[in-house]
Amino acid sequence: MTETAFRTHGAGVLTEDHVGQQVTLAGWVHRRRDLGAIVFLDLRDYEGLVQLSCDPEWTPPEVLTLASTLGAETVVQVKGEVVRRPEPGRDQKMRSRNVEVHVVSLRVLSLALTPPVPVSRKEGEELPAEERRLRYRVLDLRRTELQHNLRLRHELLQMARSTLCARGFLEIETPILTKPTPEGARDYLVPSRVHAGEFYALPQSPQIYKQLLMVAGFDRYFQIARCFRDEDLRADRQPEFTQIDLEASFVGREDVFPVVEDVLAALWRVAGHEAIGSFPQLSWHEAMERFGTDKPDLRFGLELEDWTDMVSSTDCAPFLAESLQEGRLRGIRLSEKDAVSRRELEVLTDLAKAEGAGGLLWMRRADNEWAGQGAKLLGGTFRAAMAGTVGEMLLAVSGPDRVTSPALHVVRRWLGARTAAGHEVAHAFAWIVDFPLFERDPATGAHVPAHHPFTAPHPDDVPFLTRDPGRCRAQHYDVVYNGHELGSGSIRITDATVQETIFGLLGLTPEECQRRFGFLLEALQMGAPPHGGFALGFDRIAMLLAGASSLRDVIAFPKTTAARALFEHAPTPLTDAELAAVHLALRPESE
Ligand code: ASP
Repeated sequence: MTETAFRTHGAGVLTEDHVGQQVTLAGWVHRRRDLGAIVFLDLRDYEGLVQLSCDPEWTPPEVLTLASTLGAETVVQVKGEVVRRPEPGRDQKMRSRNVEVHVVSLRVLSLALTPPVPVSRKEGEELPAEERRLRYRVLDLRRTELQHNLRLRHELLQMARSTLCARGFLEIETPILTKPTPEGARDYLVPSRVHAGEFYALPQSPQIYKQLLMVAGFDRYFQIARCFRDEDLRADRQPEFTQIDLEASFVGREDVFPVVEDVLAALWRVAGHEAIGSFPQLSWHEAMERFGTDKPDLRFGLELEDWTDMVSSTDCAPFLAESLQEGRLRGIRLSEKDAVSRRELEVLTDLAKAEGAGGLLWMRRADNEWAGQGAKLLGGTFRAAMAGTVGEMLLAVSGPDRVTSPALHVVRRWLGARTAAGHEVAHAFAWIVDFPLFERDPATGAHVPAHHPFTAPHPDDVPFLTRDPGRCRAQHYDVVYNGHELGSGSIRITDATVQETIFGLLGLTPEECQRRFGFLLEALQMGAPPHGGFALGFDRIAMLLAGASSLRDVIAFPKTTAARALFEHAPTPLTDAELAAVHLALRPESE
């Protein structure tokens, strides 16, 4: 479609092969330079940039006059001849840098206000503040980086589709106006006009629908699904986001894994990265033990160690003895070349404290002795028992795992980022398996599903369901990549009684179960095949593969971290009449 009613060629594709040709181009005025009687314009379109030269020698006077008035971002159509440039353009990335177009006619197709955010920037010129760019998103989207990101996103989506289609997965759309699907966040609610006082919910994920499709015999489903979660504000979360969602029947996790690995390998290939292969598996427990997180970055070592047994409560500092009563001493060993400076120690201590640690213990091996604040506090028994080579450094945190794990995880992550250039692998994928089925709500202490309530318990742990739910492992699995979670999934509960038990553990009465999930429980009793699936967080994948630093850079019209759309101004207040139409009235703020 490059050749249309308005143009014969794309601007950015013109090269020396086109020299001598008469072309018609259409696009935006990227930049204008007036050199006395001569006017140079950079014309930008979907294909890129080309220089237009308006010179009295070949350009009629009225065209020259018009050219000299054109503001940035005016939409024009030009005709002229492609000519070799006396000197190639300096921008090495510009495909058309060896040619220019000698303009003979020029037509303004659409005028533009002075752009409130510039599309063309000088080298080194900073971008305007993001809020401003989101406010004028149509201009910001004209930037090369965002044009590139959205095209990559498109290619990734097509690749995900074709890979799943080739494996016999069927693309089926599920409703956007739904009954709530709990995935751990609040629902966005939509009032019904036709049924006063009743509400739809936007899907947090197509979870229940995809399970129903399995019961309905579709065997393999996928969807590029838009999901909505009304969560408290968190950096780099979007209230609506895209998942590559899939589900299959008569499968165990060993059947799901290769499908997901295939999709990811295909997506990574789109971005120019070859051969990923199958991913190593790590139990949740092992990940927490070795890395302090269930999203470990496996590009580097610096694994956590447990040094509790080396400390004697009689000769360490009393506060440490106390913290070790129900906790552990865990730490990271740094070789001499990785050792950190005093100033860096301060940074790391602040990071550990922000995760709830009392502080960061550190020591360094000098000659045959451990020296430093930690060596003193941990006492003689520890110093004698702890082996080490000269120059080595130990960083440690004491306390319960819920403190030492996150504290050492952030320390390790910081250390890993510092040595990023020395990573032996660039792409470290892994499966994290055997998650706990429940976790405790920090506020209420109640059991809540670690993921969603449709995850099947580990077959060996079903007896614990009622006796000791905290011990129950889930048939849940995540894919992690370089310290990011790319997606998660599980084998599902297909036994209505087990499903009811889980709902009961979550505090739902049998009546509430029926009211909220009766349709699922009923379907599970109509011959439900064993099934399981997965969902990949597509925005994050696109972000990582585009090398972008924010999800907002791979979404055409994103929300801010405060869940606002700055361009189109949403959410927005409604008039009383508009509210009344859906049977709603606002309560005064104070009530
Ligand atoms: N529905 C889950 C989610 O959105 C994914 C899954 O279990 O397949 O995280």
